[in-house]
Formats: sequence, C-alpha cells, structure tokens
Amino acid sequence: MPSTLLEKELIEAIAKTYGTPVYVYSREEILKRISTVKDVFSSVNLFPTFACKANNNPRIIEMFKDNGFGADIVSIGEYHACKLADVDDKKIVWNGNGKTRKEIEILSKKVGYVNIDSEEEYEIWSEIDSSAEFFLRVNPDVDAKTHPHISTGLKKSKFGIQTDEIDRILSKKRLNISGFHVHIGSQITDVEPFEEAISKVVDLSKKYGFSKINIGGGWGIKYKDKELDILEYKERIVPYLKDFKMVILELGRYMIAPAGLLVLKVEYVKKTRHKTFVVLDGGMNVLMRPAMYNAYHEVNVLDPESSEKYIIDVVGPLCESGDIIAFERNLEIPKVGSYVIVRDVGAYGYSMSNNYNSMPRPAEVIVYEENGKYDFRLIRRREEIEEMFKTIV
Ligand SMILES: *Cc1c(COP(=O)(O)O)cnc(C)c1O
Repeated sequence: MPSTLLEKELIEAIAKTYGTPVYVYSREEILKRISTVKDVFSSVNLFPTFACKANNNPRIIEMFKDNGFGADIVSIGEYHACKLADVDDKKIVWNGNGKTRKEIEILSKKVGYVNIDSEEEYEIWSEIDSSAEFFLRVNPDVDAKTHPHISTGLKKSKFGIQTDEIDRILSKKRLNISGFHVHIGSQITDVEPFEEAISKVVDLSKKYGFSKINIGGGWGIKYKDKELDILEYKERIVPYLKDFKMVILELGRYMIAPAGLLVLKVEYVKKTRHKTFVVLDGGMNVLMRPAMYNAYHEVNVLDPESSEKYIIDVVGPLCESGDIIAFERNLEIPKVGSYVIVRDVGAYGYSMSNNYNSMPRPAEVIVYEENGKYDFRLIRRREEIEEMFKTIV
C-alpha cells in the first residue's frame, strides 16, 4: 500500500465513492508477491496456482492468471469464479474432502488436476470417465503448529490418505495416479513443519516413482509478530524439489492477505464505566476471522479525536457479543463518522463474509498505480438488500 498520507486520502475517496464497509486491494502488492514466489522457485519446474477460497473475486483470480498462475478450487462455485476470470480448465486443480458425486460428474471432463482425498473418493473416480490428472492427498501426520481449525495434516485431521494405506490404494491400479499432494494447514510460520511434511512426501514420491508433486499452500503472513521466513523456506525446501518434472503450488493467504484492507465507518463511540467501544458499520459479517479464530488484525484510526491512546474494543453492529474486530486494543479514539482500517484482510476476508443479521455483503475495490499516481476501480459492487432474498419462494 502507498504511504500513509496518500493512503488516507485514497481511502477516504474510496469510502465516499463506494460507501463502507469496503475491501480495498493493492495491485502493486499482489504483483510483488507473485514475483517473490517465482523467485523462490526459480530453480524448479513450478506450476503455481492461486487458492481461490482465499479470495474468489474473478478480477483478482484474473490477475494471477495473467501472471502465469493456475487456480486451486474447492467447489463448483469456485470453478465458476475461474470461468469468469477465463482460467483455462487445464490449469485448474480441484481439492476437497467432500466432492459430491454430482460435482464429480459435472467437473470430471473439465478440470486439469484432481487431488483425491480418500480411498472412497478413489472408488468414485475409477467409475467415471475423466480427462483429469490424479494426485493422492497424503496425510503426513505433521503438526503445522497453527490454529487447530486450519491445521490439516495431523493423523486425526479429516484430510488425506494415511501413509500406510497408499500401497493398497495404488495396487488397485484402476486409476492412473501422477503423484502425491500434501497440504498441512494454513498460516504456518515455521519452516520446520513444511520440511517434515514435504521431505516425507518427496521420499514417498521417489519410492513410487512419481515425477510430479503437489506441495499445497499454507505460507504464514505477518498479522502481528511472526511470518514465514521465505529465504529460509527457499534454502531448506526448494532443494527437495529440484528433480521433479512438475511441482504444483497452491498458495492463497500469502498471495493476497497483506494486499487487502477493510475500510469501516465509525458509527458510535460508546463509553461505559468499564470499557470504551468503537462501534463500526460492519463486524463478523464482513470479517469473520477475529470472531472465528480469535485472529489478530492491525487496526488503524484515520481521524483520531486526539493522539492519546486508550484500551478499547473495536466492534461491529451485530447482535452477538462475539462480533468483534479488535479486542482490548491500545488505540486512539476515532471521531464519529470517520474511518477505521483493518489490515491484512485480503485473504479469507470477503470470501468468508456472510449475511448474518441480514446485512448485505460489502463492495471490493482495487487500487493501482498509473502514470505515477494511484487510482482505484470497483471490482465488486455492494450487495443490494433485495438480492439477499432472491432465493425466497
Ligand atoms: C486452503 C488450501 C490451500 C491454500 O492455503 P493457504 O494457507 O491460503 O495458502 C491450498 N491447498 C489446499 C488443499 C487448501 O485446502
């Protein structure tokens, strides 16, 4: 994002033009992240994909496509988003532990790659005519040391095939399997679990003679303290991958989280004897992560009453006490009617937003630099109230 002063002007212009709550993404930051990933894997036969569940805006998916990325999808809805972004079918990787038979019938001749999550799913695919390349998702039994809800590679997790089941499944020979897939979770900030999981799956690939591998996503960004050390990742992980003919990568959060911020308007500053609450025009309906994972997001006050800081709760307008954006944060008190920004929300922000309390979903805007100055463009308009009830019969 641009410098703070410029940022304030831009944000106010965006908020005045399109209203709040509004998600704002930086094109510059996304492009920077794309080039970082390409640098890390420059010595590898990389096929990078963008994990659309982090952000399903087709205009965003399109930016990744234009820079050589494919797409990782987990539903037909995300397939649809990819089609709106004009992603080539052959560059779509399909993930999920609950692909329905109906979905499988619809997508079997479309997507390029499928990660099979279980022996039961293997059986379904072996009865269906498909043009996809198949990978088996391995559960490596590795602790990703992240939030339990986004930890997926422990043996008690619902994802993947246990290593001792691989022999039996592969010996069925009813499907042509191209390689293994591994994804141990999200927001992982240590290289260690990646190395444990990937080295394990690389060994398995060698054992079974696979020349392709899918190493999933999961790179952790800096919300507060720690982030994944990309250089260390490059030094420790990339050497394992040099001999592969194809290395598929599925990154979501790292690609887009720091490129997005959320702008909300201050409706009330409510001072009680016990606490001060800053009440915004959106809460867990627009950003679920704090309520759901107790996630930390940096909050900035654009127009403070004074420079003095207090311990305050930044909350939404929903009828639920869990409706919190920032809990007991040391912040200036904003002026009523001014704007507050919440950072690092480009991933799992809009895509997890919802209509709880019958609140329409927010707008999305992209900021880009042209001829040395910043401009912005709407990439998803705000939902209308009537649209929330379109399905009523
Ligand atoms: C969610 C998911 C990803 C992306 O994870 P990030 O942490 O956002 O990079 C990649 N692969 C699979 C199978 C996933 O479920």
